[in-house]
Amino acid sequence: MSDTTKCLIIGSGLAGYTAAIYASRANLSPILYEGLQPGGQLTTTSEVENFPGYPDGVMGSQLMEDLRRQALRFDADLRAGIISKVDLSNRPFHATADDGTEIVADTVIIATGASARYLGLDDEKRYGGLGVSACATCDGFFYRGRTVAVVGGGDTACEEAYYLSGLAKNVYLIVRKDYLRASKVMQKRVMEKENITILFNTQTLGLFGAEFVEGAHLVEFKDTPQERKFDIAIDGFFLAIGHKPNTEIYRDQIKLDEQGYIKLSGNDQSTSVKGVFAAGDVADPHYQQAIVAAATGCRAALDAEHFLMDLGEI
Ligand code: NDP
Repeated sequence: MSDTTKCLIIGSGLAGYTAAIYASRANLSPILYEGLQPGGQLTTTSEVENFPGYPDGVMGSQLMEDLRRQALRFDADLRAGIISKVDLSNRPFHATADDGTEIVADTVIIATGASARYLGLDDEKRYGGLGVSACATCDGFFYRGRTVAVVGGGDTACEEAYYLSGLAKNVYLIVRKDYLRASKVMQKRVMEKENITILFNTQTLGLFGAEFVEGAHLVEFKDTPQERKFDIAIDGFFLAIGHKPNTEIYRDQIKLDEQGYIKLSGNDQSTSVKGVFAAGDVADPHYQQAIVAAATGCRAALDAEHFLMDLGEI
């Protein structure tokens, strides 16, 4: 037995839920699989200050809860679980969920987002869940009054460092270059915070600790005459060095760029496979903003609707 739909949406971040609202209102009766992290990346951030319409900011988890309810209001079929297999070789497309449910879909919107990158150190695996984390808002609570380090110099790293500085006693921000890449407002915020120490030109060589993380081995000015190796004592080590797109299951079926992001094929959200659209961070190596993800979710749903209309299928 398979479930059929005019539109299968894979992923439940801003892009996925927004696509569900638009697809539902277009009578496409979408089925949306929410994936491993319902609500996507925004559920792991603290306050979102730059989403239009919230002059006082909004908690990421609240925003996603509201959006989810909005999708339900229009009768989108939201399902817990992940799509573990897809066959995009012919239309209608076939997908299989992790509970074995088969879905047959006239169009597919891929909105699977991106996941945190790690440095690739063996110690990150060794201390996984024992002091290493890629989500300050999920795990910051455990470091109340303690000392932590955040790796990265972008907006995510600055936001995480700032958030942690409200919980932890001290926060190191480990930045490999001699500048922060983050927006000016975030740079100012971390620089002005007394308990954040920024270590510029610094990279991580490894972690140490008997059971839990107790410190990090660092190197400053690596491979230069001023190179200096030193250790810092920390209880937690947070990665915030960007994200990689979640495109593993589409790898051989759809065109991706060299970083693995889905390539859009024209001026809309079409991919290299007709009838398959992509929205949100999974197809956005450039902006990666909440409002852009929502907007592309809208575009993808409208594109799916027009695609079916042109074929006379709706
Ligand atoms: P970015 O790609 O912007 O920044 C990644 C940071 O990690 C850079 O400082 C980079 O260093 C560093 N880095 C990458 N690889 C390594 C490595 N192997 N070792 C050490 N450092 C490394 O990613 P973000 O996740 O911060 O942001 C992604 C996008 O999302 C951006 O467009 C950002 O503006 C946006 N964003 C916006 C927010 C907001 O508006 N509220 C919140 C969070 C993100 P280097 O500079 O040397 O490359």
